[in-house]
Amino acid sequence: MRTPLVAANWKMNGSKTFAERFFSDLNLEALASEVVVCPPFPYLSLVAQGVEDKSALSLGAQNLSQESSGAFTGEVSADMLLDWNVRYVIVGHSERRSLYAETSELVAKKYVAAQEAGLIPILCVGESLEEREQERTLDVIAAQLKAVSDIIEGDAWKHSVVAYEPVWAIGTGKTATPEEAQSVHRFIRAELGEAGAEVQILYGGSVKSANASALFAQADIDGALVGGASLDAKEFAAICRAA
Ligand code: 13P
Repeated sequence: MRTPLVAANWKMNGSKTFAERFFSDLNLEALASEVVVCPPFPYLSLVAQGVEDKSALSLGAQNLSQESSGAFTGEVSADMLLDWNVRYVIVGHSERRSLYAETSELVAKKYVAAQEAGLIPILCVGESLEEREQERTLDVIAAQLKAVSDIIEGDAWKHSVVAYEPVWAIGTGKTATPEEAQSVHRFIRAELGEAGAEVQILYGGSVKSANASALFAQADIDGALVGGASLDAKEFAAICRAA
């Protein structure tokens, strides 16, 4: 039985005041799902404070370095995240892949760096609109997963989360239909082999309270990675409650 998981990816949004207020507005009483909040790095400590007060919540980061320490200006290591009680870290978000030229090979190294330190990577995969129109969706996702499979050992997949985020659905208001998403989620689970049955696979891309229940009703959708709608504590809590 997989626990439903809903993660907030604030991206480069928010402020000190926003982070402080978010938790006073977030009512997660009687929640069956696990909730993760991934703020920008400077607000990790503030959110850590909010998280300490709420037992169902975990802290997440949006990125990490594949290196452990050294002359890497501007980078943040897995151990530094652990110092702030971070539990989850997003790797391979499509914005990192497309805007910061992160290759699947680099993403795989970040995945391993996170796991070796004891963090749980949330590995993002997904196709662009062009790739979907060319019917290459499953090939693209298989290649993104294979880059990780190629360098991990044993049952490493079991200690991670996968997020399917079709690039064309991110921040566009266009969601994959529940059936479209389900068929990709089923494919991802099969690609993960024996570990597949245990891995939480989240859907991301314009998730809001109005479409969350229909997505979560699908057999292989275990929760969501939420961008824009996670910036509104009440809306985010409604999504968490739907999971
Ligand atoms: P939106 O929910 O804003 O479409 O963003 C999805 C996303 O990229 C979460 O990581």
